[in-house]
Amino acid sequence: MNEANETREQFDYDLIIIGGGSGGLAASKEAAAYGKKVLVLDYVTPTPLGTAWGLGGTCVNVGCIPKKLMHQAALLHQNIKDARTFGWTFDEQVRHEWTTLREAIQNYIRSLNWGYKISLKEKAVTYVNAYGEFMGPHKIKATNKKGKETFYTAETFILATGERPRYLGATGDKEYCITSDDLFSLPYSPGKTLVVGASYVALECAGFLAGLGLDVTVMVRSILLRGFDQQMANLAGDYMESHGIKFIRQFVPLKIEQLEPGTPGKLKVTAQSTVSSETTEGEYNTVLLAIGRDACTKNIGLDKVGVKVNEKSGRIPVNELEQTNVPYIYAIGDILDSKLQLTPVAIQAGRLLAQRLYGGSTLKCDYVNVPTTIFTPLEYGACGFSEEAALEKYGENNVEVYHSYFWPLEWTVPSRDNNTCYAKIVCNKQDHEKVVGFHMLGPNAGEITQGFGAAMKCGMTKEQLDSTIGIHPVCAEVFTTLSITKGSGSNAKQSGC
Ligand SMILES: Cc1cc2nc3c(=O)[nH]c(=O)nc-3n(C[C@H](O)[C@H](O)[C@H](O)COP(=O)(O)OP(=O)(O)OC[C@H]3O[C@@H](n4cnc5c(N)ncnc54)[C@H](O)[C@@H]3O)c2cc1C
Repeated sequence: MNEANETREQFDYDLIIIGGGSGGLAASKEAAAYGKKVLVLDYVTPTPLGTAWGLGGTCVNVGCIPKKLMHQAALLHQNIKDARTFGWTFDEQVRHEWTTLREAIQNYIRSLNWGYKISLKEKAVTYVNAYGEFMGPHKIKATNKKGKETFYTAETFILATGERPRYLGATGDKEYCITSDDLFSLPYSPGKTLVVGASYVALECAGFLAGLGLDVTVMVRSILLRGFDQQMANLAGDYMESHGIKFIRQFVPLKIEQLEPGTPGKLKVTAQSTVSSETTEGEYNTVLLAIGRDACTKNIGLDKVGVKVNEKSGRIPVNELEQTNVPYIYAIGDILDSKLQLTPVAIQAGRLLAQRLYGGSTLKCDYVNVPTTIFTPLEYGACGFSEEAALEKYGENNVEVYHSYFWPLEWTVPSRDNNTCYAKIVCNKQDHEKVVGFHMLGPNAGEITQGFGAAMKCGMTKEQLDSTIGIHPVCAEVFTTLSITKGSGSNAKQSGC
């Protein structure tokens, strides 16, 4: 027996994955398909209010899935309003039942949790519902709900522990505020809600809560959607503001006090201006914190095995093979330093990593031109560079921006918001006007951006967009007829109705 085989036989598993979310589950199933002995540990530490959930991680339980379903519920409200202008008549008063929506979504999530368990079983992946923590090289401790500790060893490890919502550190935040981890399974309607933060999670939650008919205010410290194209971020925010969502800008909460207990109760929020000594007070039924998320890298024993963490971000730097500085430990998904935090990114990285580790593949995860969509009431889809990032990378003289407002046909009959939807592409003039940034604010932006994302992977240029024949009458056709450059200063608004 050679040395490598001797070493391998000492371990309980070929691969242990800490974290059974989007990335961890994808990697585990792929590795098992190559005949490897794989263990997945997944454990949800309850929120300060005691909310916990099943297998599958953030996306399925407290992220993409419940969020998109609540967004859909809000869109239906708008559709009901539009329906009358298309000739539908209905007499009953339109009301929304939070508990019906919550139950329907939670039932669907439970079916997904169950499906994940079954599929791990079918693929012969061992799943243990326990918290994983390194004890030393190649060795972890798994602690289950009852506090029982079990020790496992493996040749290789993948860290896929994801992130959890950050708290303010203000008086009363953990006692009285909720986060997105609590919202989707909240047993009662949140009522009048203050959403704190300007992250995509903040704007999406504010958007669907308002769409369900609730009184919603967003408290923003500085800018909306940091890291995204700021023109688009502000347009998405303007739409929210013009559709009844209030914004308190340049304020942060100082303390949250309970005025009345209940479901929901009543809370008083005292906030401080970020630019003056002014304070303001407000009463809300619910305060939802969405000020960012912290990587779960603190209490997993990384110091015991020497895995380096970016001190500032708490995230793990990896090389292009998703390998940490400790060669037998890899990391994927939201905990990675300077990578996009999206479910399909975590899944792709996990699958490709397992294929490289066990299938002889050399294919690496390509983190460039990843399309994404923010499900604000008016959806914002993006791929590639923001306008400001492109200007910084290529220089002002080398960037051409084409843009146009557009009016979805479906919005004409109900007379909704002319010149609100917006399309923009950012092109690199030095490279045949290659489209390096795609931005769209409009209905179904997610569906539309996916296809253009594929085109950008193929190196789409402005000329190729122009030679593409549009589909009429759909929103996406605007991208085949963009003729106004920002530099020209010409009006990009639609004239007339
Ligand atoms: C409200 C919201 C909406 C979102 N919407 C979208 C969207 O529309 N589209 C999109 O692409 N992405 C969206 N995301 C982001 C997406 O959910 C994440 O990018 C994705 O879940 C990351 O996958 P992951 O595998 O890195 O981590 P996760 O899915 O978070 O999984 C990590 C798992 O590890 C567990 N864990 C942590 N520490 C340990 C430990 N020590 N031992 C055992 N288990 C542990 C966690 O409990 C969790 O189950 C959203 C996120 C949020 C919060």
